[in-house]
Amino acid sequence: MSAKPKFAMYWAASCGGCEISLLNIGDKILQVDEAFDIVFFPCIADFKLADAEGYPDGFIDICFFNGAIRNSDNAEMAHLLRRKSKILVAYGSCAYEGCIPALSNLTTAEATLRAVYEDNPTIDNPSAVRPQTSVAVPEGELTLPSFYNTVLALDQVVTVDYVIPGCPPEPHQVSAVLDLVIQGAPLPPPGNTVVGAGTVAVCEECPLAKDVKRIKRFYRPYEIVPEPGICLLEQGLVCMGPATRSGCGALCPRVNMGCRGCYGPLDGVVDQGARMLSAIASVLDVGKIGEDEAALERAIESAVATLADPAGTFYRFSMAHSLL
Ligand code: SF4
Repeated sequence: MSAKPKFAMYWAASCGGCEISLLNIGDKILQVDEAFDIVFFPCIADFKLADAEGYPDGFIDICFFNGAIRNSDNAEMAHLLRRKSKILVAYGSCAYEGCIPALSNLTTAEATLRAVYEDNPTIDNPSAVRPQTSVAVPEGELTLPSFYNTVLALDQVVTVDYVIPGCPPEPHQVSAVLDLVIQGAPLPPPGNTVVGAGTVAVCEECPLAKDVKRIKRFYRPYEIVPEPGICLLEQGLVCMGPATRSGCGALCPRVNMGCRGCYGPLDGVVDQGARMLSAIASVLDVGKIGEDEAALERAIESAVATLADPAGTFYRFSMAHSLL
């Protein structure tokens, strides 16, 4: 093996979009190949667990770990790659804060398994057979990872040095981080530090005009045609821009789709959903302090009733880190 720095990428509970986003950096992938020895990347080449296990501790210079921790295998791989890597990067929203897999934290592992293997009209499983962690067969014992009750972010299992946020991360930001590493430029101090993203809210890079309008209700995207050029939130379309880290270039609001929040909370915000609740409260036009309290409460309830799936909307990407 050459003296080049060693690069690894691994996926745990994720959809695979993060791997595609790395390939999405275009011909820069050739520079990555030139600059690094790729020593573990099972998604693109036939690497085995034994390869990673066989490396000395700290052998991998930088490891991009994407995916949440959904089961015992994900956790074991997180511990293994932490041990083998000098720099461990939580790559993408699932590793950073749980993302879509962590929405299942709204229920239990038992309820999830029941929904998938029993109360499911599209399966035929009269004996209610479920995956077993261990089963004896004539050839020996077969095992499967155990399914956790709670989906965790990577930093809830091992120490993380850096985070590249996004679902998936945007190619220009992945490229910028890789350039720093390839050039040997100093990185900011490690400690779950966000790199390859902005520091302010998506609203700051959104071209839509904000006019401090207030609204009486919310709409689903199919219910109205938004007025061009005007802030979506001020038209009653939920947009997570006020609670979400910049860096993507406000891609979704630019095409009249509210920001979904995939870059996670911006600097200084601990709980993205709580921040969004506060932004929502500030745009609601439900009356004034001093008015009849019962009437105010009814107006608030009726406005909030038009918000579909508040938990899944405000914590779509950050459920694993939610304080609530
Ligand atoms: Fe743009 Fe959304 Fe912020 Fe409005 S709330 S300014 S649409 S990012």
